[in-house]
Amino acid sequence: MPSGREHLASFALEVAASPLNWFGDYYAIAYPDAKLDNVALPDFAQGAMENLGCVTYRETLLLLDPETSTPLERIDVAETVAHELAHMWFGDLVTMRWWNGIWLNEAFATFMSYLCVDALHPEWRVWESFLRNRANAFEVDALESTRTIEYPVYSPHDASGMFDTLTYTKGGAVLRMLEQWLGPDRFRDGIRRYLTAHAYANTETHDLWDALEEETGEPVRRAMDAWIFQKGYPAITVRRDGDVLRFSQRRFVPSDPGDRTTWPVPLLVRQVTDDADRVDTLLIEADGGELPLAAPDALVVANAGGASFVRVFYDDDLRERLLARALDDLTAVERQCLVDDTWASVVAGDASVNVFLDLVEGFSQETELPVWQAIVTGLSWCDRFVEGDPRERFRDAIRDLVRPAFERLGWDAREGDSEFDRELRGELIRALGILGDDPEIQAQARESEGQSRSGEPVEPPVAAAAVDVVATVGGPDEYEEFMARALDADTPQEQERYRSALPRFRDPGLMARTLEATLGTIRPQDAAFVLAHSLASRDLGPQAWAFVTSRWETVIERIPASNAIALPAGARMLTRPLEVDEVQSFFAEHDIPQNHQMLLQFLERQRVFAALRARAEAELRVRFAG
Ligand SMILES: [Zn+2]
Repeated sequence: MPSGREHLASFALEVAASPLNWFGDYYAIAYPDAKLDNVALPDFAQGAMENLGCVTYRETLLLLDPETSTPLERIDVAETVAHELAHMWFGDLVTMRWWNGIWLNEAFATFMSYLCVDALHPEWRVWESFLRNRANAFEVDALESTRTIEYPVYSPHDASGMFDTLTYTKGGAVLRMLEQWLGPDRFRDGIRRYLTAHAYANTETHDLWDALEEETGEPVRRAMDAWIFQKGYPAITVRRDGDVLRFSQRRFVPSDPGDRTTWPVPLLVRQVTDDADRVDTLLIEADGGELPLAAPDALVVANAGGASFVRVFYDDDLRERLLARALDDLTAVERQCLVDDTWASVVAGDASVNVFLDLVEGFSQETELPVWQAIVTGLSWCDRFVEGDPRERFRDAIRDLVRPAFERLGWDAREGDSEFDRELRGELIRALGILGDDPEIQAQARESEGQSRSGEPVEPPVAAAAVDVVATVGGPDEYEEFMARALDADTPQEQERYRSALPRFRDPGLMARTLEATLGTIRPQDAAFVLAHSLASRDLGPQAWAFVTSRWETVIERIPASNAIALPAGARMLTRPLEVDEVQSFFAEHDIPQNHQMLLQFLERQRVFAALRARAEAELRVRFAG
């Protein structure tokens, strides 16, 4: 690590020691080397790299100050370290034969890191954060341009195309589904069998399925092949037929109406009745499945715990029961899935944006972070599609919805706050201060940000949220301070907060300075992400687009090749008709060959959200007409 930052290393040292022992126990194989160094590098294109005995990281993912970091920043470090250490066995001790198997390497390390961190720190509730991140993989995998998780690799570009959300997140989610279906102990025993049989050797994906199948006797290879070698994922529809629940499946958003893809779908079905709360394990086949209804008025949760990689839609009767009892009887994960599935049906054009807004209106008593994150995702898109007076009334509605939840928490940390409560406080400050344009929140955010900048202790998630809110309403004076911190702050996390807030300033002159800095003072490893945030700016995105396209050669030369895909990732947020035309035709001429399929996906996502805008603008204008 760079000298002078030694005091930031103690947290990582602490979070690295326990996983090493935990993995040794889980795998039942001791760590396969004599020493292990973790090294922070000041300019590093990747997140981290699992060299045996010497793992390298970008600074934000290894160095932090426990006093000033937020719970999620700490979890990021712990999860990254655990991911790299999981690779010491799965990836280093046993290595994939060829690049087609890289998905399993990465998906498995992703899955194992959450399993490990959850075991060591159950209070962090990391599986819930994982399921929240999964929303991104769901979005990509609903596209026509999605891909199968595994595919043949012939060229270096085929290999670099593997490093995406489908590999890490869908892959990790599919393994979580498998583990929940087989049961954690049987799954672990199968992993031990696999690692022992293939130590210091190379494997194909099937070797893992075969080991799990030998261990459990379940049809693992058949079930998993469908998820690994077919694109997309199913929507499960549940309906009540007398005293039976009937399950059917179809691909979620088939681009071709004749698409008949089906999956063997492992599903945990929960039924809550007056005197019982039971969970049944099913495998839904191509022709569907069924289960006795536990009681006429049972509450049915078809993806209990949310572990299956599916969306769920209910008939009207079952859905009404769920909505009526959501806050009392559903877990936070299950409510998050309900909100996310509803938003997905709006994006897909299956439901009006009003269905989503009606649903979330019932959530002002909601207390859980992942549910609010799902709500805010949908509301942030709506905010892009509404202008003028209706936008003012939309902001009123945001304040009405979010205020009660924020007032329960207040500005200051309370005795007994969970890590999620602490993060939620920041999330709601952003929602009110930015989406709700709430002047009281903005004034208090200025105060908190000023205190934090002058070294006074401020609750870290409040300090982090205040940076975002102040940038949104700030002018040239704040900008000078923010830029100075973006280039040099006390910790990598603070530096990142200020750097990623720069594109939030609403003055075009300040945006111009931020854009220029990506070719100057901002480090190459960070430049693509600042540009992506700038492209995603609700109002100044077109200015960033003009900059990026006019300086394309210079930008591409400066940023690491593996980060170039961040540019279309940001540009996909430009959804006004002329912007869409420009972005689509520019990238038709300017390929990103190392991530070609991801480029096609971002372009399709832009078209999907442009189509959503075309439908939602009129609906929102009417809803918020006053
Ligand atoms: Zn990895």
